[in-house]
Amino acid sequence: MNVLTNIPLSQLTTMRLGGIASYVADVTTRDEIPQIYANAKKANQPVYIVGGGSNLIAHDEGFPGVIVRIAIPGIEQVEEDAESVTIRANGGEAWDNLVKYTVDRNLTGIEAMSGIPGTVGAAPVQNIGAYGQELADTFISLEAYDTREDRFVLLTWEDCDFSYRHSIFRGSEQGRYIIYSVKLKLWKRPPMPPFYNSLQARFDSMHITDFTPQIVREHVLAIRADKLPDPAKMANSGSFFKNAIVEQWQLDNIKNQVESVKAFDFGEGKFKIPAGWLIEHCNLRGESFNGFKVHDGNAVVLVNESATSYSQLAEARDHITSEVFTRFQVQLEQEPLELTPPTAQPIERVV
Ligand SMILES: Cc1cc2nc3c(=O)[nH]c(=O)nc-3n(C[C@H](O)[C@H](O)[C@H](O)COP(=O)(O)OP(=O)(O)OC[C@H]3O[C@@H](n4cnc5c(N)ncnc54)[C@H](O)[C@@H]3O)c2cc1C
Repeated sequence: MNVLTNIPLSQLTTMRLGGIASYVADVTTRDEIPQIYANAKKANQPVYIVGGGSNLIAHDEGFPGVIVRIAIPGIEQVEEDAESVTIRANGGEAWDNLVKYTVDRNLTGIEAMSGIPGTVGAAPVQNIGAYGQELADTFISLEAYDTREDRFVLLTWEDCDFSYRHSIFRGSEQGRYIIYSVKLKLWKRPPMPPFYNSLQARFDSMHITDFTPQIVREHVLAIRADKLPDPAKMANSGSFFKNAIVEQWQLDNIKNQVESVKAFDFGEGKFKIPAGWLIEHCNLRGESFNGFKVHDGNAVVLVNESATSYSQLAEARDHITSEVFTRFQVQLEQEPLELTPPTAQPIERVV
């Protein structure tokens, strides 16, 4: 285990904000997970798990405790039958390495999620998704260290309670589990059209009618390279807001203002409206506030151009949400989680 001291959180998160973390521990074996947790507990130090920091906003106060990174890569095939292959990947593996591994074996199921930054261990936390696929579609189970029970546990699909960009790991059980490995079931059949709107439109315009996981991956990566700023070049956390899930009356209200609103049926009488569309229709695309810019190519992305403090981000976020609410009566919700300093009972509450 490698432990560093006094590390700026701005170096561990792609939005590049945040003060000093007292310790950063890279665990390199499964056994080190309970060890670091027990040591931190004995020293009364709170613990927080950080992967690639691509969905995490750190605060100026930093973190007076131990940031743990699961530096345990590895992917293996664990089962196979006539139609499917089950893969287990460790939490420290880069998510996109896992996608590439499955695509290289001509397996279908996560190819549309190519290019999502971050680690396998973080993928269940917000049930990552893109271009019509989400983790929950292929997820079987995960192994996690349960910090409440002090033991490793197996959690099934039902246990995780996945929904749109949500699971127990960012809901009712936030901070409880350290995800060690994830098991997914991939299909041997080719990906089938129709694909997600923008992907299908691209295939149609290029007259592509034969689909393989590799073709889907290539085109998703091409679309993403056009639409999303690379965090290595421009600090950002990807989509800063979740897409809005609205009621019929809200959709009617928006339609009265902009008839061509992009809305997708979300079931149970609800509709999904891209957050970027709402922001764009408040004329905020390309606007800058407090060192942040609403990205020119994709209005749901906030780029940190020069900001150094969390309060600058909070003001920019509140400005955008209030403009959208005033115009459309829709409350946008922030997608990235916040790495907040511990309050009372840190070991139980903050991971
Ligand atoms: C340019 C860009 C594009 C993006 N595109 C997409 C997209 O298309 N779809 C999408 O869904 N997301 C997208 N994201 C968001 C982000 O990449 C994902 O949410 C990703 O899963 C975060 O992984 P991470 O390792 O960086 O997690 P972090 O940001 O480090 O952590 C996120 C949360 O997960 C927790 N966590 C991390 N690892 C573990 C673990 N092993 N055990 C328990 N908890 C853990 C952390 O404590 C934290 O609460 C994008 C981000 C960027 C910057």
